[in-house]
Amino acid sequence: MTAPGVREIAAAVRCGERRAVAVTEAALAAIGARESGPDRLNAFLSWDAECALRAARAVDALAPVARGPLAGVPVAIKDNICTADQPTTCASRMLAGFRSGYDATVVRRLRAAGAIIIGKTNLDEFAMGSSTENSAFGPTRNPLDAAGGPGGSSGGAAAAGGAGLGPAALGSETSGSIRQPAAFCGVVGIRPTYGRVSRYGVVAFCSSLDQVGPIAADVRDAALLLRVVAGRDARDATSVARPLSELDEPGAAAAGLVVGIPQEYFPSELDPGVARICADAVARLRDLGAEIRSISLPHTEHAIPTYYVLAPAEASSNLARFDGVRFGARAPDPISIRELYEESRARGFGPEVKRRIVLGSYILSSGYYHRLYARAQQVRGLIADDFRRVFASGVDVLFSPTAPTPAFRFGEKTENPYEMYLSDVFVTPSSLAALPSLSLPIGRLGNLPVGGQFIADQWHERVLLRAAAALEESYR
Ligand code: GLN
Repeated sequence: MTAPGVREIAAAVRCGERRAVAVTEAALAAIGARESGPDRLNAFLSWDAECALRAARAVDALAPVARGPLAGVPVAIKDNICTADQPTTCASRMLAGFRSGYDATVVRRLRAAGAIIIGKTNLDEFAMGSSTENSAFGPTRNPLDAAGGPGGSSGGAAAAGGAGLGPAALGSETSGSIRQPAAFCGVVGIRPTYGRVSRYGVVAFCSSLDQVGPIAADVRDAALLLRVVAGRDARDATSVARPLSELDEPGAAAAGLVVGIPQEYFPSELDPGVARICADAVARLRDLGAEIRSISLPHTEHAIPTYYVLAPAEASSNLARFDGVRFGARAPDPISIRELYEESRARGFGPEVKRRIVLGSYILSSGYYHRLYARAQQVRGLIADDFRRVFASGVDVLFSPTAPTPAFRFGEKTENPYEMYLSDVFVTPSSLAALPSLSLPIGRLGNLPVGGQFIADQWHERVLLRAAAALEESYR
């Protein structure tokens, strides 16, 4: 990508070589041109030139030393993250036109670092999906292949990055929604350790899994964004105080690292093109001086079923607030309170969200709670133990494909939700285990990018970033 990246823009704005206003105008012009033309991506659900330019003028007015580590950097925000001055819709009819009136902590931290909130990006409704086809406002297209989807649920954020519409974005993951679209759109996406980043102001889907993370063109740009948004937040009791030095600008060195290759992540059904590109990446890691070790994560096959018990259960509870009274669009002229609830929810939610609410309510109903929910929590523990054992044996980081195939086409998996769920096989176990993980581009099949995934132990983002930066450099 030739467009200037995060560090380059921030350095130029800090020293006065470029004005934040000029950077912002250029970003708005690019978004406006791409999103109104015939090859519209639908990556952005909204953008607000006035707000963005006001913020940019404020950055330019500061003394250079006060401009911050992201001075003048346009950042796109997934539309399930609250922004005081712009709508937050979760790509749902339920929240069309909704304004939160306050900033999520991650957004507040971006602004304090000098970043410009440029617009809000498309997603699967309430972040439920893997293709962005579940958006109530139409799917996003993959900038690299019009027939292919961008992945999801942070498909808008990843597509914006892949199309060069701005240097950075924030996405969110419950299980894979940053890494998988990043892989499909040829950009870098990081899922931080659970608790590294505040969830305050992020519309809750599955609270025990949700995390916000950055999407950018390269590892170091993404790492810088992560360092800005990370840190304990008194408003999120699950956020944890950890030294920011754990996220310092990563050196690029794989020498001496022990890289584990999970055999379960290279099944015989793996797309042969993806397998070949991954084998090449592993060879590169070896050439860089890493020790490659085959390892096993025996409970991998249980991750998807476990996730689809836990996530709908938590979602059904979290989404109860959208009833047309507390939150969400209210059905017109209900004749009773019951009809008000039923009609508002029937009209507001799309089919996938309804499917999950029904499933989740069933899972949490008396008699099933212990059989299903409590059981899934136990299996989640076994999956986490798999990783714990491997990291305790001296493995520093794991490497695998991010997804079993490159970007799939529109409609390819919408008929069969279970097929769609299976596209997350390699990203779900680490999510359940609360581990940090990263996807970076490692090759292409035709036009379509292929992503490689690193997974590290909890709070070991440093080794994750270091290994990824080293592999990334080997392609330059
Ligand atoms: N694809 C998964 C789902 O549909 C994960 C989504 C996410 O990470 N938000 O729930």
